[in-house]
Amino acid sequence: MKYIKVIILFFLLLIDTLGFGEDSSMKYNELTLEEKKVILDKGTERPFSGKYNHYKEAGIYICKRCNAPLYRSGDKFDSGCGWPSFDDEIPKAIKHIPDADGIRTEIVCANCGAHLGHIFSGENLTPKNIRHCVNSISLNFKANKQEKAYFAGGCFWGVEYYFQKEDGIISAAVGYMGGNIENPTYKEVCKGGTGHIETTEVVYNTSKTDFEKLARLFFEIHDPTQINRQGPDIGEQYSSVIFYVNNEQKQISEKLIKLLEQKGYKVATKLMKADKFWKAEDYHQQYYQNNGKTPYCHFYQKKF
Ligand SMILES: [Zn+2]
Repeated sequence: MKYIKVIILFFLLLIDTLGFGEDSSMKYNELTLEEKKVILDKGTERPFSGKYNHYKEAGIYICKRCNAPLYRSGDKFDSGCGWPSFDDEIPKAIKHIPDADGIRTEIVCANCGAHLGHIFSGENLTPKNIRHCVNSISLNFKANKQEKAYFAGGCFWGVEYYFQKEDGIISAAVGYMGGNIENPTYKEVCKGGTGHIETTEVVYNTSKTDFEKLARLFFEIHDPTQINRQGPDIGEQYSSVIFYVNNEQKQISEKLIKLLEQKGYKVATKLMKADKFWKAEDYHQQYYQNNGKTPYCHFYQKKF
């Protein structure tokens, strides 16, 4: 009888180690024993002991178990309770369920069910009058980071126009890239032969958008099948190019080009390593916005 118990225990352990007991369609991060105590067994970390109790960096708090975005730093406030407190959540990120104690309301990650803490209202601590009381150990933090991307797709006025309106964009500027002289002027680039291509520099916030979203937009606001021209603008400086700043951008661009080719587009877009971006003359910056006009050679067309 004893042996049977040992064998059963062994198999239970094996099943646990292999993760059969959980939803195997999703891969979750490995948790330490300490983390499991709170996240899976609904425990509570000691007050004032957590990493994010007094944390004030700008960014987003994500689920320790599945990385889903849960809270924005702008909604964090100091409640003095000893645990990170938020008076709002990222839409649809948090599930509210009656606690087993029959009194409180538990909050869990809507994506993976990880235990986060409890939610309280009516304390009048902030105008929203809500306090998500969250265990630091249930969270990870992603700082707001800026990254750059460079897109060339014909007249830079039009490309800049569309990126400027996009969510998560910090700034967009027009200029020249890929050529062989220093400090090129618009006149020199137009004459041809400098090798420069009209390019838009996009600075974006990585906690609000990502390169793939921007690259998809790029392909949908110009015609990537045209060679050395874009609409009425003819010349090498109007070529379609993504100047990638790292390998990740290059791989995402390759993936999107493949997707378009599968849909029948003969993509002419070149992928080139970014080099120095020469900002164009002031009168080219935000041209359409400053002149109250709309692009003549770029329009949005869904392709993906
Ligand atoms: Zn989660």
